[in-house]
Amino acid sequence: MNSRIVRKALAGFRWQDVDVLAYKADAAPFRDVTRQVLFGDAGQASQLRYFEVAPNGHTTLERHAHTHAVMILRGAGRCLVGDAVFAIETFDLVTVPPLTWHQFRASIESPLGFLCIVDADRDRPQLPTPVELRQMRELPAIRAFLEADS
Ligand code: MN
Repeated sequence: MNSRIVRKALAGFRWQDVDVLAYKADAAPFRDVTRQVLFGDAGQASQLRYFEVAPNGHTTLERHAHTHAVMILRGAGRCLVGDAVFAIETFDLVTVPPLTWHQFRASIESPLGFLCIVDADRDRPQLPTPVELRQMRELPAIRAFLEADS
């Protein structure tokens, strides 16, 4: 049997022969996030990844030219996309348009796991400058979201 044709699902939202990786290697701020590349062979234009944010953790607040297509697969939380904050739970779909600020946060009670489709060839994320962060915080809903862990 060629194990690469079917990778069985394992306990804890893992898959056979798929490594659990650090979310990011650079110094961008995030908390308690893992990354698994489910599909991403050379020659494919897109990758399917599974990210998991531990309870009360969060991804990096960032934007970039490439888009994200996200399906929540585990747990619940909230996401900031553009100038709005949304409650999200299992099987919800989230579209992140180009150059739109975004961040995902797990609830205190549960992890937040999600599938994400991205271009295999994609630009590097941008982080907000202090001025941009101050502008974002002028919206009360975003301010409350960003301060949830401080
Ligand atoms: Mn992103």
